Amino acid sequence: MNVAVLGAGYAGLKVARRLEQELPAHISLTLINDSPTHLVQHELHRTIREPSVVDTIQVSLREVLDSVELIEATVTDVDPGTGVVKLDGDDAPEEFRYDFGAICLGAETAFFGMESVQEQAVPLKRLSHAGQIRDDVLALTESGGDVVVGGAGLSGIQVAGEIAALADERGATDQVSVRLLEMADEVAPGFAPEFQQAIRAELEGAGITVQTGTAVTGATDDSVQTDAGTLPCDRLVWTGGIQGATTMDGDRRTVRADLRLSDSTFVVGDAAKVVDADGEPVPASAASAIREAKTAATNIARLATADSGLEPRLDRYRADIPGWVVSVGNGAVAKLGPQVVSGGPAKAMKATIGAGHLAGVSALRQAAQLAEAERAETRRDETRRDETRRNTPALSPQSIIGGATAPRHRYHSVEMISLANSSIAVSATPTESVRLRNPWAIPG
Ligand SMILES: Cc1cc2nc3c(=O)[nH]c(=O)nc-3n(C[C@H](O)[C@H](O)[C@H](O)COP(=O)(O)OP(=O)(O)OC[C@H]3O[C@@H](n4cnc5c(N)ncnc54)[C@H](O)[C@@H]3O)c2cc1C
Repeated sequence: MNVAVLGAGYAGLKVARRLEQELPAHISLTLINDSPTHLVQHELHRTIREPSVVDTIQVSLREVLDSVELIEATVTDVDPGTGVVKLDGDDAPEEFRYDFGAICLGAETAFFGMESVQEQAVPLKRLSHAGQIRDDVLALTESGGDVVVGGAGLSGIQVAGEIAALADERGATDQVSVRLLEMADEVAPGFAPEFQQAIRAELEGAGITVQTGTAVTGATDDSVQTDAGTLPCDRLVWTGGIQGATTMDGDRRTVRADLRLSDSTFVVGDAAKVVDADGEPVPASAASAIREAKTAATNIARLATADSGLEPRLDRYRADIPGWVVSVGNGAVAKLGPQVVSGGPAKAMKATIGAGHLAGVSALRQAAQLAEAERAETRRDETRRDETRRNTPALSPQSIIGGATAPRHRYHSVEMISLANSSIAVSATPTESVRLRNPWAIPG
């Protein structure tokens, strides 16, 4: 019997690693991906400012998988009914058949038919995109100009933050303007209002112009057209939406809580529009993809090992993500349950997620590297803030907690958030421990 996983992002790598544990040896397990590495996509924006983390966020699949057969090839077609997969790759077969399979091919950038935007803008899905954005922003720090980021979801917020921080590091905040456009009435559409407000505050604090309720309609090489008028623009970054992979005809297939598309095929991660066990739509995110992967792997293992003729009980995915964290340059905002925090603790949580994900897929060397890169960045930021503090005697930092403001005590390099009933996160001096819960941690 053949079990296949198509795509090795968050969903595919997690499904494959779980199936390695759960499938008996006589069932063959194959992972097909168009590159030999797993890309830690939720850290992609960081490479705009910090190209040294490029190697850290690419994990060699061979190094983290044991018994899986790897095929490096592009999936050009997949028939979820028959399990026939067409492949394009130097050493790959033209066709592959599975008895049970998981489609984990992720998503592509959607331009919603705006050809001029597709021609002019750089999306952010690959390392090469981040490299181009960095080069363009560095050129603008010399010549001066306007950067516009279209779309203020998780990626757009973080990209705008990195671009502003890069300009700041180069002493070019006066030369480079950064504007974040969002069609919805708030940034981070779909998230809780107090999280949205805290993110907006962090963005504006970083010198980014946030313009919501404004839809991009087109672009030229020096402007962006919107339904509110034309804006000057020397570099447009487009993070305005996603659609299914070309292989899936641009479609994100809708699956219910068991993640099953047909008798033999499951769809997991951004490739799917998932409706969970409570009937709620699941947001496309890395956090959701790795959690869905657990359900999909369990269900595939049950089907593949079931006695013939017997339909096993399948698990149902219930979206239970305990928190969200977004970085905004040197800052970050986290939502844990009902509480929203910003500043050092949120930044530290963001760091635990990236390193935690790498450690979770056995990329321990890279987890350590990422943690070290975070520490170095924090040290650089501390130095900058010490300088600012020396020059700003009346500093009175405030932190946003649960939508309200509460005092944040600052003791040298210690940042402590006081909550009404409990202290959920403390970022401390090297002599004090930091207690943080990784919001991506998967129970069980
Ligand atoms: C800048 C940025 C910041 C983000 N920040 C966050 C965040 O803070 N939190 C969060 O939860 N999410 C975040 N996301 C979203 C998150 O990265 C995605 O939701 C996540 O990558 C989806 O995982 P996936 O496994 O479904 O797809 P992917 O990670 O995209 O993996 C798809 C895999 O399939 C492979 N593939 C694609 N097509 C083919 C083909 N035809 N043949 C063979 N292989 C193929 C790809 O190479 C890849 O390995 C961010 C995204 C970006 C771009």
